[in-house]
Amino acid sequence: MRKFSSLFLVLLLVTSRSTFAQTKDSLIVAAIMKEANENSQLEKLGHELLDVIGPRLVGSPQMQQAHDWAVAKYKSWDITARNEKWGEWRGWERGVSHIDMVYPRVKSLEGMQLAWSPGTGGKTITAETIIIADLKDSVAFQQWLPNVKGKFVMISMNQPTGRPDYNWEEFGTKESFEKMKKERTAQTDAWRSRISKTGYNARTLPPALEKAGAVGIVMSNWSNGFGVNKIFGAYTAKIPTIDISLEDYGMVYRLTESDHKPKLSVRTDSKETGVVPTFNTIAEIKGTEKPDEYVMLSAHFDSWDGASGATDNGTGTLVMMEAMRILKKIYPNPKRTILVGHWGSEEQGLNGSRAFVEDHPEIVKNLQVLFNQDNGTGRVTNLSGQGYLHAYEFLARWLSKVPASIRTQVETRFPGSPGGGGSDFASFVAAGAPGFSLSSISWLYGSYTWHTNRDTYDKIVFDDVRSNAILAAIMIYMASEDPVKTSTEKSVLPPNPRTGEPGRWPAKTAPTRRGGLN
Ligand SMILES: [Zn+2]
Repeated sequence: MRKFSSLFLVLLLVTSRSTFAQTKDSLIVAAIMKEANENSQLEKLGHELLDVIGPRLVGSPQMQQAHDWAVAKYKSWDITARNEKWGEWRGWERGVSHIDMVYPRVKSLEGMQLAWSPGTGGKTITAETIIIADLKDSVAFQQWLPNVKGKFVMISMNQPTGRPDYNWEEFGTKESFEKMKKERTAQTDAWRSRISKTGYNARTLPPALEKAGAVGIVMSNWSNGFGVNKIFGAYTAKIPTIDISLEDYGMVYRLTESDHKPKLSVRTDSKETGVVPTFNTIAEIKGTEKPDEYVMLSAHFDSWDGASGATDNGTGTLVMMEAMRILKKIYPNPKRTILVGHWGSEEQGLNGSRAFVEDHPEIVKNLQVLFNQDNGTGRVTNLSGQGYLHAYEFLARWLSKVPASIRTQVETRFPGSPGGGGSDFASFVAAGAPGFSLSSISWLYGSYTWHTNRDTYDKIVFDDVRSNAILAAIMIYMASEDPVKTSTEKSVLPPNPRTGEPGRWPAKTAPTRRGGLN
């Protein structure tokens, strides 16, 4: 009887201990869910970052404002935060773009100067347009080149349709859709050949036109959706480079072709602000048991500046900030140190995260895990093991604690293959550290918001972002509590299917510490 009862007691103890762990986990998970759902700060943070501060081009004053805002925000949540300088960049500030057609009739055009485009020196420039001519070769092009003097030069193809393919597919006949695609492909090939026959490429043509006396470069980088263009950087040094909508570009193009001699009136104000320092914002909740081991949240902070960078990577930023806020409230004394990295200059080559990896070997070496998010507003639907042989064990263990409504959305791939780029987790993977990407469902990210003039607050799907903040917070909690340090043993990579050579782990790349300056 005595024997039985002591065994019973042991059993009871064992059971209650594991029940205790289960209860503790489920209490924390429930509290995270409650805080995320009932006291969400996502909308407010999104408004402050995207509407008030705006886009965050590296080297712009808005990028600096965003870093300072994030540090202040963390401090208001009682979280330690700092801006870590890692390099310098060309300083540039976007100003107004006023673009009008003033002849043969008046129409204000939808467009803007590209990033780093020169301004018009406080003046409005009015001039005729000219289209890059289709000539035999570069010799003929050099002879033609003086024609651009005093003109706005149009360097993009005139798209045959402003309707995205999905719209043709829904409403067009099969025959007309196929015909349009065939003609567009032929036209695209012809345009490519037209540009290559000049002897220049997309990068070198604008400076050549500038040298020949053009007053501005006009282009239209359509992004295959209604009303959406991608806005990247200019290659001119003195004259403005502007992008205008497909609709307006097509109209001006046709008027130029039909010899109506349209005139554009352009004013772009932008400022060179010299060489400016660039930063990462790092925030931290100190670990209590293993302060020298790290669990890390990650999202790049910079953006292109055609819109406000809402989904690239405003939403990733919001996910990580909200997860930090929730963790500080629900789990203020983590076992391991929780860090978040808001990286500068991802868009120009993962520079902030690469610099962090170089500058903090002690963190990289003792990294339990890093979760990065950077492909839009959608809920997370993919998680790859990045080629780490044992990623399955710990990621699956942590995921098992995530509520089914979120967990069942996530398709896992193990061991997966190591990401060589694309976003900041790759900087860690290249160093052999356990960096993972929380990969989102598309919401037509590639065409409608990625690097476009439509990447704005209204495109955010807050329920999905909220779900991602919950996922990130729970995964970080589980990673911090895990009694075991994660394994970074690499799997044997499959041979390159093309060359048959053994698969190679991506190599570490040095950051550009001084960028945009010639
Ligand atoms: Zn991005």
